[in-house]
Amino acid sequence: MNYSKILRQSLYVVIPLSVICCKQESKENGTTNPQGQGPQATELLEQMDADKDGKISKNEAKGPLGEDFSKIDKNEDGFLSVEEIESAPKPDRKGPRDENISNKDNVQKDFDVTINVNPSLFIKESLLEEITKEERTLENGTKAMCYVIKTSSRPQEHDMGPWCPTHINDGEDKGGIWFKEGKVYDVDGHFIANLKEFYSDDEWALFREDGSVKVTKTQEECEGAAKPNVEEEYHNYCVECLPDYYKDKVSTYYIPVKPLYLENPKTLGRNGIGVAFNGVNFDAPAPTHAILAAHTLAPLDDAGGHVNPHGGYHYHAATGKTKEVAQKDIHAPMVGYAMDGFGIYAHTDNNGKAYDDLDECNGHYDEVRGYHYHAGDAGSNQVLGCLHGVSGSASVEG
Ligand SMILES: [Zn+2]
Ligand SMILES: [Zn+2]
Repeated sequence: MNYSKILRQSLYVVIPLSVICCKQESKENGTTNPQGQGPQATELLEQMDADKDGKISKNEAKGPLGEDFSKIDKNEDGFLSVEEIESAPKPDRKGPRDENISNKDNVQKDFDVTINVNPSLFIKESLLEEITKEERTLENGTKAMCYVIKTSSRPQEHDMGPWCPTHINDGEDKGGIWFKEGKVYDVDGHFIANLKEFYSDDEWALFREDGSVKVTKTQEECEGAAKPNVEEEYHNYCVECLPDYYKDKVSTYYIPVKPLYLENPKTLGRNGIGVAFNGVNFDAPAPTHAILAAHTLAPLDDAGGHVNPHGGYHYHAATGKTKEVAQKDIHAPMVGYAMDGFGIYAHTDNNGKAYDDLDECNGHYDEVRGYHYHAGDAGSNQVLGCLHGVSGSASVEG
């Protein structure tokens, strides 16, 4: 295994680039690159260099670059330069690991029952075009027939927002939700007023003396606040990007018609988790550390969604506000499809009970649904943590 291959694979474990966005720009993602060329050192640097100082610090380094940081940092200045990344030594690996398993080592497994994606479950009115089929190269380099789902990420079943209350006297109907340690909280005026206590941190001051809440009001303000290095003037702000700023963006999902289960799960990559039946993306976990470090909040609305400058409206939780497909048995309803084509179902069954036999990706198998996932609890900031199947791809234009 050479380093450029590992560097390429490390792209799939890169932490989200923009603060309230977890999905990266994917013109044509690395895995579908026909030449099989990995990213250059300069690309990696650009991707991971959150503070844009032209080098990668220990905190910024992800995947193999992070694991082998001290080996790669030849001059031991605590930063990786382009030159150091280019001349990185071959890593010393004792056997395969999660994101570094080569495709041939990652054995495909067939279950007795495999359920193909059912395109008729998507809400027609939410999609920009009828769903078509196209042969595409999947994440592992194999070709497969995929459904092509084009959407402008506007749900039909529920309103988007609200996110930030405007005054500390506002009730819960004026704001969205936030989460900490697995619990969901209403972001009402009281929540904003109480942030110092909530986070045991005196630097929180999201409201002015007159009780008004500091909320981003324009696209420019939202974009100044919704990025890895929150601009100084937007520290201590409630970040609210509106869907209309990005209404012309088109997201396209290529989801394999027949999902392929692999023995070893894959860390979530740039394609995110999957898509709800209304065409809205289930995104990778919100990078709450980056958000909170700047004393900003980026509340989700009651449907678990908010807007970022990259892809527009997207979900970080499945809260039961989107289309659900009821099952004939007591099993949890279905809420959408993962990028690998396996179904995503609600967190709890019809008796309100969570499943206790789920694997590391929140998945399990039964003979009705085949292998499938259950969304994490709404407060977990994690619809799914990994995928057990071969992922299709996604892109955003506009
Ligand atoms: Zn987000
Ligand atoms: Zn299940």
